[in-house]
Amino acid sequence: MRSRIIYLALVLALLGLLPARAQSDARLFPATGWRVAGRLLAFWERNGGLPIIGLPLGPQASLATPEGRFSAQWFERNRLELHPENPAPYDVLLGRLGAELLQHQGRDWRREAVGEPLPGPCRFMAATERSVCGPFLAYWQAHGVELGDPGVSERESLALFGYPLTAPRYETNSSGDRVLTQWFERARFEWHPANPPAYQVLLGRLGVELIGEPAPLPTLTVQLDPTAVLQGRSVVIGVALPEAQALRGTLGAAPLAFFREADGQWRALGGVPVLTPPGSLSLRIEADLPDGRVVAHTTHLRVLDARYPTENINLPPAVQDRLNRNREAIARENALVNSIWPQVTPERLWSGPFRMPAEGRISSAFGTRRSYNGGPVNSFHEGLDIANAVGTPVVAPARGRVVLAERNLVVRGGAVILDHGRGVHTGFWHMAEVLVQPGQLVEPGQLIGRIGAEGMVTGPHLHWDVRIGSVNVDPLEWVARAWP
Ligand SMILES: [Zn+2]
Repeated sequence: MRSRIIYLALVLALLGLLPARAQSDARLFPATGWRVAGRLLAFWERNGGLPIIGLPLGPQASLATPEGRFSAQWFERNRLELHPENPAPYDVLLGRLGAELLQHQGRDWRREAVGEPLPGPCRFMAATERSVCGPFLAYWQAHGVELGDPGVSERESLALFGYPLTAPRYETNSSGDRVLTQWFERARFEWHPANPPAYQVLLGRLGVELIGEPAPLPTLTVQLDPTAVLQGRSVVIGVALPEAQALRGTLGAAPLAFFREADGQWRALGGVPVLTPPGSLSLRIEADLPDGRVVAHTTHLRVLDARYPTENINLPPAVQDRLNRNREAIARENALVNSIWPQVTPERLWSGPFRMPAEGRISSAFGTRRSYNGGPVNSFHEGLDIANAVGTPVVAPARGRVVLAERNLVVRGGAVILDHGRGVHTGFWHMAEVLVQPGQLVEPGQLIGRIGAEGMVTGPHLHWDVRIGSVNVDPLEWVARAWP
């Protein structure tokens, strides 16, 4: 059994941490492309959301209202205004859209005659000298802004809908239906007796009626090359959306770096982690449009089983001992190396297929799954091992910039990392000599070091890593074909 421990370098990268994802309090509504954030989002979620307030129609912005200028946001059924001078929950107020819309229409509700009767009990409201009856009263009393009162109090209903302005009467709504309608300060109630009980009272889309229907979002189309990807392999993700100003995305848990190509298409390289189960991996893309809207798209990448062999490695007590004694140094080394992978330099330095960085025998293939001392299979060989004599030249596989050149790492020995741009890095471990300096630009085939047996190995070899972001991909597929 040939020196299994050679492949030790392996596990240790697993000890490194992925960068924590920033927790955002913003929520994107893909149907209209706008985000709602902070206090307005909290208010939206606490006070009825979609059926009561509806989808956002624009960004939170400084808006002129009849009561003054506020940081506010339009929704299908209302306008949420931020009043930071008020203590919560009074720091978010709803616009008086019912009153505003009636005014726009030139209707003076005070002069309007009595309307149609509605079956059921009524409540007379002296403030506007109107009654709310039957199903409208039930709805009015059942909904409110949560101000902390038990159940739904009258002041909570008033905060949401306000007082009735008109008596109920038949009106033609924006969908062309003639329905019994009653206007309130902040809402318009419509009665649809043919609907199931929960939908017999519907709220008018006052926001839409005041500022217009939202423009349809452009569609985003995705092209995958290849369309199905083996575990541990790379994929080109092309997105057609010329008007986009920026694209973000994730493949599984890994962030994608998108760039606009000369042909106007957006493109990102992705990697499928070796330990991804066969099946599908979620691909999420968000594109920023010039008007501030976001086009969100979710699809799946088909993941095929690469049938990597599994091996168990028994760590001899001496190695275990060495690991234990160097825990802190190894953690520092991993932190250093793992801080480099997520960095994205926009300029693509490579072109065409990569070259092999050294001559020699492939002593361990990429992707072999590993368990240690009979434990779970939760790691894999992250690169390609090329065994040859100490002193064998190691050359740059492609144009790149040296971003790490260390001579004595505990695990990796003499180590070099090249940044090829667009989030693609290559790493070279266990070298006896490191012949480049950080910041240096190297050309394909340029000598960067010499094979050694430095770090945690039992024999001379070069370990070669290829990464897209933090995801390891099979170095041989970067030799086999050109990646854009
Ligand atoms: Zn290796």
